[in-house]
Amino acid sequence: MNQPSPSVEPVLAGRDNFIWMIATAADRYAAVDPGEADPVSRFLSQRQATLSHILITHHHGDHIGGVETLKARHGGEVIGGAGDAARLPPLDHPLSEGMVVRLNDSLAAELLEVPGHTLGHVAYRIGDALFSGDTLFGFGCGRLFEGTPAMMWQSLLKLRNLPDATRLFPGHEYTLANLDFLVELLPGLPELSTLRQEFVTLLDARGATVPHPLAVQKRFNPFFKADDPEWAALLGLAGLDPVARFAWIRERRNRY
Ligand SMILES: [Zn+2]
Repeated sequence: MNQPSPSVEPVLAGRDNFIWMIATAADRYAAVDPGEADPVSRFLSQRQATLSHILITHHHGDHIGGVETLKARHGGEVIGGAGDAARLPPLDHPLSEGMVVRLNDSLAAELLEVPGHTLGHVAYRIGDALFSGDTLFGFGCGRLFEGTPAMMWQSLLKLRNLPDATRLFPGHEYTLANLDFLVELLPGLPELSTLRQEFVTLLDARGATVPHPLAVQKRFNPFFKADDPEWAALLGLAGLDPVARFAWIRERRNRY
């Protein structure tokens, strides 16, 4: 299905969580990962709008904390990964890999299973937008709380295969912290400082470094580069396979 580019706005919650609000009609929105209810209710009341859907990427409290309150207050169909249904609020649409839920006449959400951060983590593709939860961040990826490096690497490859123009909407604003790590990891790549400055400017201008095209992540996200021979040479990891390189970079990032 050829879908239009959805209109998406951020609601900020917690310390650095994004709750993404997707326009599904002139006065209706779908909310992605509402960790809190009140900021979403305020957003809806400011626009005199209602809630059409709630999409959940994974079971962590900062992503599902507001779901049941929002459902009680505003209604809305709850969408989540069938495989983790036992740890999620009640789902109206439990989905598995590749399954689709229509959000309106022109938009549909497709579920991608991306285990690693948690075993039941999922992402959603809606038109040119990717809602990656805590699997993929600007220049980073989620910590492996439940999955293995091999599992997360396969999940990241699935996301890396999406078109370059895909707009990335992650669960947290971690871009600059991840770029700081990257500058330290690869001091030999001078373009990283320029890249960081571009994102500082972007953050100042619009209050968030995301969305931005997946193409930027394909070029510079160190976790996408675990099978890149040039980066492996720069990191002194040429003797390792991609999963071992991924695990090494993840370990470095955990200790950063
Ligand atoms: Zn999480």
